[in-house]
Amino acid sequence: MCERIPADCLPEPSGDLRPEVRPDAASHESPDAAWVIPQADVWPLDRRMVLAGMGSLLLTACAPARRSRSRTSAAGAARPPSRPRRPAPPAYRVLRRTAWGAEALKPNHDPMDQVTRVTLHHTAEVAGMGTRTDAELVKGIQNFHRNTRGWADIGYHWIIGLDGNVYEGRALHVQGAHAGGGNNKHNLGISVIGDFTNGLPASKQLRTTALFLEASLRHYKVPTSELRGHRDFKATECPGSALYAWLESFKRSRAS
Ligand SMILES: [Zn+2]
Repeated sequence: MCERIPADCLPEPSGDLRPEVRPDAASHESPDAAWVIPQADVWPLDRRMVLAGMGSLLLTACAPARRSRSRTSAAGAARPPSRPRRPAPPAYRVLRRTAWGAEALKPNHDPMDQVTRVTLHHTAEVAGMGTRTDAELVKGIQNFHRNTRGWADIGYHWIIGLDGNVYEGRALHVQGAHAGGGNNKHNLGISVIGDFTNGLPASKQLRTTALFLEASLRHYKVPTSELRGHRDFKATECPGSALYAWLESFKRSRAS
């Protein structure tokens, strides 16, 4: 499932796969997708959720909005009209399947139905990491899963890139192929590009991981106890010891 992706699965290097990032891309293509790109201040994310397991990541973009002080003068003058508030930037960008050149879903799949649990993975090493774009890496993962392994599609529903953006994987109405057999039922699969056996993702990638996990749990009303790492289902390194330890801290901070 989360095994090394060989180089021959990667597409030819091409600027064509370098996606044109559209922050609002999600809302155009799926009525169920608005939740995947929360504005940075839609909900105040507790710093502990992101800082769990690491010491240096700052989360200024997700701090609760400060209350503005009244500008009313001591003489009781009317408050000057407030400036329209500038919308907060998206917390991260979501790239649809068309942005990374996905091949179509094949018929050999099962419906997802209700999502009741969420599982975090790492991709482990993907050939070309460091030289290829995230879009090319995601395309390579799909090629391995779909065409080498014969699955219906890329196994994960979402992939978090090295660039801190979120890449759309398997459709949400389709059961994933990421946790093994019956463990895939009602199970949203999220994978972070990289091998996190010995170290955590870079700050922007980890920040997106925290935000996206939180958005997913809230959207589907999945309890913290149903957020798992792949290794909770089988003997595997995935999602890497470092990321798994972070996940445990994330869950503790969320439960407290
Ligand atoms: Zn995995």
